[in-house]
Amino acid sequence: MNTERHSAGLDPDQGSNVDHHEIAKFDEIAHQWWDPNGEFKPLHEINPLRLAFIESHAMLKDRPVIDIGCGGGILAEGLARKGAVVTAIDRAEYTLDVARMHRHESGLEIDYRLASGEEMAKQEPGAFAVVTCMELLEHVPDPASLIAACAELARPGAELFFSTLNRTAKAYALAIVGAEYLLRILPKGTHDYARFIRPSELAHWLREAGLELEHMSGITYHPLTRTYHLSDDLDVNYLVHARKPD
Ligand code: SAH
Repeated sequence: MNTERHSAGLDPDQGSNVDHHEIAKFDEIAHQWWDPNGEFKPLHEINPLRLAFIESHAMLKDRPVIDIGCGGGILAEGLARKGAVVTAIDRAEYTLDVARMHRHESGLEIDYRLASGEEMAKQEPGAFAVVTCMELLEHVPDPASLIAACAELARPGAELFFSTLNRTAKAYALAIVGAEYLLRILPKGTHDYARFIRPSELAHWLREAGLELEHMSGITYHPLTRTYHLSDDLDVNYLVHARKPD
């Protein structure tokens, strides 16, 4: 792939909340998004759990939903299959190409756009009944700014969903040493431990953005059975449901 444009010349996104090294890393493995045994295998495996969590707290059918940092569209397609009217954005070009092509294979209608959350918030404030932002907060320089953008995209009364990795010794061991290098359940180098987010930090940023924290749930991996479950254990990967007040 051509990584030149990410490093050479003027940076068109200077000052934006986008880490171009992260974007380049995702674009480099973009062809693997829909390989169920490839680098994104864990995202395929946890997707039914994420959808179940979302559906237990929000109506999806015929409602405008935005998925921020959609990658190849694993969650966006799941939301569209549930009848949501999905807009999905990502800042990585090749990744978005893969998502667009796969949408046709799946016969789904999804409005894919090349944008960051902050850019989209300027274009369509208050347009969405449901906002999802999964496995992205730990990849941006300023997660609080992204959460504020999600809040701006949400209409009053909207439901918002986030997921990220907790900054604990256990998360470090499992997600970095265990998952990336031993079990290979996450792509190598996709996670920078310092950027992992404690639930208390996330709760603080939600409050700052004027959102109400409703629920948190852990996603726990069982190495022996190699399966994931929703649980009360927030130590590693966790999901958050928040609400924008009416
Ligand atoms: N949300 C998807 C993909 C998570 S991987 C899922 O959980 O299945 C993170 C994605 O965020 C990648 O596709 C990456 O290209 C994208 N990304 C990284 N920084 C971004 C930014 N600042 N704005 C929008 N997308 C970004």
